[in-house]
Amino acid sequence: MAIHEECGVFGITGAFNEQIARDIYHGLYALQHRGQESCGIVVNDDGVFSTHKDLGLVGEVFGENELNAFPGGCMAIGHVRYGTTGGNIRSNIQPMVVSHQKGNLALAHNGNLSNSLDLRDSLELSGAIFHSTSDTETICYMITRERIKTDSIEQAVLSAVKYLEGAYSLVMMSSTKLLAVRDPHGFRPLCYGKREDGSFVVASESCALDAVGASFVRDVKPGEMIVFQANRPFEEPASYMENSGCKKCPCIFEYIYFARPDSVIDCIAVHDTRVRAGEILAREYHVEADVVVGVPDSGLDAAIGYSRKSGIPYEIGLVKNKYVRRSFIAPSQDQRTDTVRIKLSPVRSVLEGKRVVLIDDSIVRGTTSKRIINILRDAGAKEIHLRISSPPFRHPCFYGVDIDSEDKLIANHHTPEEIAALTGADSIGFLPIDSLKEMSGCDTYCSACFDGDYPTKIPSDPRKDRFEKKLSEAGK
Ligand code: SF4
Repeated sequence: MAIHEECGVFGITGAFNEQIARDIYHGLYALQHRGQESCGIVVNDDGVFSTHKDLGLVGEVFGENELNAFPGGCMAIGHVRYGTTGGNIRSNIQPMVVSHQKGNLALAHNGNLSNSLDLRDSLELSGAIFHSTSDTETICYMITRERIKTDSIEQAVLSAVKYLEGAYSLVMMSSTKLLAVRDPHGFRPLCYGKREDGSFVVASESCALDAVGASFVRDVKPGEMIVFQANRPFEEPASYMENSGCKKCPCIFEYIYFARPDSVIDCIAVHDTRVRAGEILAREYHVEADVVVGVPDSGLDAAIGYSRKSGIPYEIGLVKNKYVRRSFIAPSQDQRTDTVRIKLSPVRSVLEGKRVVLIDDSIVRGTTSKRIINILRDAGAKEIHLRISSPPFRHPCFYGVDIDSEDKLIANHHTPEEIAALTGADSIGFLPIDSLKEMSGCDTYCSACFDGDYPTKIPSDPRKDRFEKKLSEAGK
């Protein structure tokens, strides 16, 4: 699966904690699936910010030396970021830290602004100099511009967010406060929890709260800003809802693919939605078969659902090599080795001579599905019936997800029957778009990459080209 999301954010505040950088490190480890290109931590020790960030996985960037070099503090934030390749995007690594006349600001962002170019142009006209291609710097400058005119960080953020369009789940830190902000549509998840020592933890996903021993309190509501005071453990945070009121549109693809299955987003368990997707596929696209196999990892839950509903046994027919990571050197073209075969191995005893229902979470260009089907055929599968736990991708995402351009999406050029033939499947079935509500239990959601119904204004054509160029420069 070649789709990436851009980030995971994490923050802690409470009494002075000598080990606060380690707590952030553990939270980022739990969010690693949301971004594998770079990561960073900023610790606030009585208003003095200490930062370490670099390209690489959390375990590569932070060793004992880096963690021991951090001071203790009563607040800290961290970030993991997605990216493809290249070392030329160091300036985009988060959290970003800016200093202004009234103090410091550290900010970690998950999402993408759909009006970032307009904001950037206007900031540049008023003298701002950008050092990165990221929206995060734009948001930092918007907030610091307002901070200079206002009496508090709360007022500054509430004024700045009025200008932002698109997706933003933010964790930020001033000298004395930790703030969690979610855009009014609630595209990206954000929640907070509490530990027994009275410290509060903010995270992109609830699985990261578990990792540091915090109990889930609640999701940050769409349009809400929550403010925690530094060094005041147990003091309940203040909530500001001035930026709310839009239609709630959480990203449906978080449930299908991005989020970890053990997370709960907006009171809905991700694992349950995936199992339901499998059940719907079994109901809509029944086939006589011997075994149901999921493509690891995000096809597994839906495979369980398909099996449960259809009565066809679920088996582990593909094993993922857990050790293929970012440092993996892909085979050169003349080696004629298929990377998918290094990442996924078939379990021949499960597949040989069997009619297989193969469940995957999505199809982008179709090339990966074709390779996986080849692997199953070579292992002796007699029939392969491909079931996809999302509707066909047809449109780009402007809210922080790297989906291929429209002309490369296989569903824009081929019917399902043609896609089955191209990938080598005996039959195919996509999750019907009108079953997303049943799958997720959400009343409203964003499904624009499937149906083109964007919840916000999107860049117009010339702007769109520049926008896409900016994303590609940013490694997004
Ligand atoms: Fe999620 Fe698709 Fe909407 Fe992007 S366009 S926010 S990936 S549902």
